[in-house]
Amino acid sequence: MRFHILTLFPEMVDGCLGASILGRAAKDGRISFHTVNIRDYAQDRHKKVDDYTYGGGAGMLMQAQPVYDAWRAVQETERFGSGCPENGPKRRKRLRTIYVTPQGETFTQETARALAQEEALIFLCGHYEGIDERVLEETVTDYISIGDYVLTGGELPAMVMIDAIARLVPGVLHNDRSAEMESFQNGLLEYPQYSRPPVWHGKAVPEVLLSGHHKKIEEWRLEQSVARTRERRPDLYRDYRNKMPE
Ligand code: SAM
Repeated sequence: MRFHILTLFPEMVDGCLGASILGRAAKDGRISFHTVNIRDYAQDRHKKVDDYTYGGGAGMLMQAQPVYDAWRAVQETERFGSGCPENGPKRRKRLRTIYVTPQGETFTQETARALAQEEALIFLCGHYEGIDERVLEETVTDYISIGDYVLTGGELPAMVMIDAIARLVPGVLHNDRSAEMESFQNGLLEYPQYSRPPVWHGKAVPEVLLSGHHKKIEEWRLEQSVARTRERRPDLYRDYRNKMPE
């Protein structure tokens, strides 16, 4: 899966996505990251990409032209991607473009699952007061937020979303089953987990986990998941109960 990130601060993104599990998956060729510096597309000789907002108000706004040209450049490379050499360049469809914004739908595990089905995605990161509405109208397919608070820029939200999506791409996690067993996959939070030693600070690991009895372990885990969800996330617990057969 290919991730294109349009940003004014590529250094924020490159360092983060090149490390750990995602960095290794990129080295293995399972995913790839392409950071595009929107400033490279500024026509102004000082490479200016922002200006005052019409109608007044505090702060600057990212201008339409550099954002549009950066986005078009990505669409062009994707539309005429390498494909099969014998068939000539392969024509691909227009990519989904996500504007990360506090004004979008809230990002969830379900959104991550749906987006992980795409071959490639474009993330557009705003800064300052945001981006000129006209270019958003022409480029954006999805408006997505990471929560009801305002950050200084879209780089952190884009990385949060990319991390959650990329780990669902087959082969990115060493054991793909681990993503299937986690919080939110079945509408519940995950059960508590323990590792060695069997007793730590006087606290023993629940006996059933040492029993080797797989069915009992599964039952215990489900019970714990349900109890934890009821206690910590009553909203999820309500949905879970409502979906249960009578
Ligand atoms: N003026 C905008 C508003 O009130 O909706 C906020 C702009 S914010 C200071 C700058 C940029 O940070 C946004 O364009 C967006 O890309 C990003 N951003 C801030 N908070 C975010 C959030 N909760 N989720 C996703 N992106 C966010």
